[in-house]
Amino acid sequence: MDTKYIFVTGGVVSSLGKGIISSSIARLLLSRGFKVTIQKFDPYINIDPGTLNPYEHGECYVTVDGHEADLDLGHYERFTNIQTSRANNITTGRVYQSVIDKERRGDYLGKTVQIIPHITDEIKRDVKLLGNTGKYDFVITEIGGVVGDIESLPFLEAVRQLRMELGQNCVCVHLTYVPYIRAAKELKTKPTQHSVKQLQEVGIQPDILVLRTEREIPMAMRKKVALFCNVAPEAVTQSIDAPTIYEVPINMHREHLDEIILKKTGTPYTGEPDMTKWNKFIDRIHSASDVVKIGLVGKYVELQDAYKSISESLFQAATYHEHKLDLKYISSEKLNDGNVEEMLSDRDGIIVAPGFGQRGIEGKFVALKWCRENDMPTFGICLGMQCMVIEFARNVLGLKEANSTEMDSHTPYNVIDLMEEQKSISNMGGTMRLGAYACHLVHNSKVAKAYGTLDISERHRHRFEFNDDFRKQFEDAGMKCVGENPESHLVEVVEIPSKKWYIGTQYHPEYSSTVLNPHPLFMDFISAAIANSLNKK
Ligand code: GLN
Repeated sequence: MDTKYIFVTGGVVSSLGKGIISSSIARLLLSRGFKVTIQKFDPYINIDPGTLNPYEHGECYVTVDGHEADLDLGHYERFTNIQTSRANNITTGRVYQSVIDKERRGDYLGKTVQIIPHITDEIKRDVKLLGNTGKYDFVITEIGGVVGDIESLPFLEAVRQLRMELGQNCVCVHLTYVPYIRAAKELKTKPTQHSVKQLQEVGIQPDILVLRTEREIPMAMRKKVALFCNVAPEAVTQSIDAPTIYEVPINMHREHLDEIILKKTGTPYTGEPDMTKWNKFIDRIHSASDVVKIGLVGKYVELQDAYKSISESLFQAATYHEHKLDLKYISSEKLNDGNVEEMLSDRDGIIVAPGFGQRGIEGKFVALKWCRENDMPTFGICLGMQCMVIEFARNVLGLKEANSTEMDSHTPYNVIDLMEEQKSISNMGGTMRLGAYACHLVHNSKVAKAYGTLDISERHRHRFEFNDDFRKQFEDAGMKCVGENPESHLVEVVEIPSKKWYIGTQYHPEYSSTVLNPHPLFMDFISAAIANSLNKK
């Protein structure tokens, strides 16, 4: 069959969950046996989100091939169980960079390089790149931003042109918002009508509308939207607020979204999607009664999207253990020796988050000292692992001024230091140690037992590393290096075997936990936290 293209645009306001709708469509089509991929086009000029502050766009996700990507790619992977790559996330910056490179090479000799057709052609090429591999029945393309944004215009223009070229092999899904006005006790469709008009103004007639809403949208109202927006009444669907994002595929199937897409693209299908495993996960969410309490110590606590993959990994693991997750975000900047007990002691396990720079770092040491001395199950990720090492150096090895050279370039005890290959790098974008690297685990270590294997591959995003000169001192005092890269011998995992669960990973396991394959380390950490909670009772 020809590859079919699904475009997902958004209107009215941002944060309606285009990524979740795109992921849900992917989940449903995959469960019907189709081969699917999703990509995200971001209208900002940064080449990738790697240089963005998490407060701007939430977490930076990392693909196995080392691309720093939008956090929606994390949702795609969690929903589809399929790894994404560099080709799945394109920004305006990348599009322009590629066009400018071509112009300098002389590829357009004699021509004036313009948004139309050169930028739009580049976007179209990127859209079709995945489809042309012949590997997919469906390519879902989510256009970031909201219709009406100046930035999204070239993307929408490319979609308009592709619609003409692809004919029935293309379907446009537009996600809008239907607010409930409490004072009037009424749902309002006017913003949706305006948003569709804006889309029509740029030449795109949506085929399917998804109306995000807090309350059921009655049939009469859907018919009215259909009439005003030039969409078939059965193609006006609702996406009602759900207790968790993982219920959205089920809700959208109830709205026949997958069937409408299949019909509109002329794709033959039979029966129903096989959602057995997915439904089992949802049942577990609902049947879980006991609660596991985790504290996440980090500096971006006001914006929870900054730790999206970690919170989702914890949620998945807790759900598989038939527990509800109570996740408390604890600002490392506010932690001190006087309040640490009060802030952490009601938790069953603590995660110390990844991050960059000095801000909030001392609070992480305070938290880790308390966790280590009180034998709290503790999981350090990337900077969290580095902080475990520094805290141990200061308070167990007695190296009081131990630090990472990221925080103090003159520290006499540089237990965490810049990686050799990073020393000559001055460019900030895409230059860290990024993507999946192999790691060999020490037999019988806690971490090896958690994985059930000695050879793993995990994703990285860092510049600094454990300084091997100190390895013996750490090991003699009880903090073991239990995972290393087989080629470079970089230390990737540390643990204190005498503790219940005190493990730090230089890599980011949270990027590879999915609904159907929860990550073994998160599973093991939650299991240790649950055991800890039972001990307390
Ligand atoms: N800032 C640290 C480094 O660059 C840790 C990075 C992270 O936590 N992702 O090594």
